[in-house]
Amino acid sequence: MTDNRIKQIVIVGGGTAGWMTAAALSKILGPDYAKIQLIESDSIGTVGVGEATIPQIATFNRMLGIPEDEFIKHTNASFKLGIEFVNWKKLDHSYFHPFGHYGVDMEGLSFHAYWQRLYQEGLVEDPSEFSLMAMAAKNNKFMRPFNAGKNSPLNEIAYAFHFDSTAYAKMLRQHAENRGVIRTEGKVVDVQQRSNDGFIESVQLESGEKITGELFIDCSGFRGLLIQQTLKAGFEDWSDLLLCNSAVVAPCEGVSEISSFTRTTAHKAGWQWRIPLQHRIGNGHVYCSDYTSDDEATATLLDHLDGEPLAEPRILRFTTGHSKKFWDKNCIAIGLSSGFMEPLESTSIWLIQSGISRLLTNFPDKTFAQADANRYNRVLIEEFELIRDFLILHYHANERTDSEFWIRCREMTVPDRLQEKLEVFHNNGRTFREHDELFNDTSWFAVMNGQCAKPRTYDPVADLLSLEETKDRLQKIRIAIANSADYMPKHRDFINKNCDARTLKL
Ligand SMILES: Cc1cc2nc3c(=O)[nH]c(=O)nc-3n(C[C@H](O)[C@H](O)[C@H](O)COP(=O)(O)OP(=O)(O)OC[C@H]3O[C@@H](n4cnc5c(N)ncnc54)[C@H](O)[C@@H]3O)c2cc1C
Repeated sequence: MTDNRIKQIVIVGGGTAGWMTAAALSKILGPDYAKIQLIESDSIGTVGVGEATIPQIATFNRMLGIPEDEFIKHTNASFKLGIEFVNWKKLDHSYFHPFGHYGVDMEGLSFHAYWQRLYQEGLVEDPSEFSLMAMAAKNNKFMRPFNAGKNSPLNEIAYAFHFDSTAYAKMLRQHAENRGVIRTEGKVVDVQQRSNDGFIESVQLESGEKITGELFIDCSGFRGLLIQQTLKAGFEDWSDLLLCNSAVVAPCEGVSEISSFTRTTAHKAGWQWRIPLQHRIGNGHVYCSDYTSDDEATATLLDHLDGEPLAEPRILRFTTGHSKKFWDKNCIAIGLSSGFMEPLESTSIWLIQSGISRLLTNFPDKTFAQADANRYNRVLIEEFELIRDFLILHYHANERTDSEFWIRCREMTVPDRLQEKLEVFHNNGRTFREHDELFNDTSWFAVMNGQCAKPRTYDPVADLLSLEETKDRLQKIRIAIANSADYMPKHRDFINKNCDARTLKL
């Protein structure tokens, strides 16, 4: 049989995407499968943001064999139990989108349905009381899950991290290089394509060196050096649906208590993130430049910092959307080169992870079967679209009357699938997860309940239990969660005891 195995993989770009890809491929494929070469340019640098994650990142680190406490110490990380949304629905209003689930499903029906029933009766107000992650975050508590006995909420603590992404890329570089990945410093200035079909043959560096490959992975960031500039895959522009196109970022000094959640605060024409790390707080103001100037956005950011800024504010521009093809010919785009939807729900690093794992499950040989590429593209496009709809929900479901930006978001026409989800929720409070979409019914419930008006009624199946029985069961859950949250140590104390970055031995 002809040996069609790919033996030369070239990754262009060494940001979070490039090094995550290099570390994962070298771990899964092993040292003898193919030569993996990564090119990056110190003079270009990386985007230098991306500090909040979702729980799946822990699976990625485990797959690489990185002990969690080592990862935390190396990246000055803290733990994240969810996101607090301030001023999104209206001014002086807030709600929490926790990781994990609320309460427990009963009689085959989701907990949300029973909660909605009591909500309709005016017997409950805030679903956070039924989420251990939300209750712990409220008091800056944290611990990892442990076997605390049957039915204890402490068995299921869901968490992610806030971390220094530059330090993370550095750590992954070490792992990748230890497994044989070759790093080349240099700026790609030209790309050579095969004359008959346009496949990429090699990239040329400023030094004149040519690096040949069979599979090229474009991790060059917003430039999309290979996927856009060379292959001209085209871009699906979502600026009309996700209006923000700029961000101004500046870290500031930390405070003694480290919150165990991300805070996002809506402003006049966008929103500001607050991401606490062990040694500082990451901050950024994401905004739509049609409704505020860079100077005004910067002033708003600086007005809302907890401590002194540690760097000059830096402005970044982006266009929301994705490459029309994620995989084109012998090139696969991963990271910002494949698209960007804004950082509101910390989905970009997850999309890198997803791109890598789908590349591995559809890994090509030298024939580059078009069916593999088509499938990869279809699955990734659907993944992007479902996340996009969830993000639009945050902007669209608002009652704010104080700014043109928020009024436009509310009045915009949203994609049909989101419109249908909204109509279902408005009617009976039901929420759904489509296929294997990233955000499950709990996440949809958290945000819809946090931002939408009260549904017309509740799921009729919730009448399975009598009102008294429902009240009684929810009261027991509320108490179990409150007791569990009380039991948890302060986040700072947990870090100091287990994974204080200051104890790192280099
Ligand atoms: C404002 C903002 C906030 C964000 N916040 C979050 C968040 O909280 N959570 C999250 O999950 N994600 C977040 N993201 C996204 C996250 O930052 C990115 O997904 C992540 O950093 C990956 O970036 P990247 O590696 O694709 O690109 P980059 O970091 O830009 O890396 C590109 C690499 O390509 C190299 N390169 C480019 N051109 C050339 C060339 N010609 N020759 C050689 N090398 C070249 C560069 O040197 C660099 O190494 C945020 C993004 C933005 C813009």
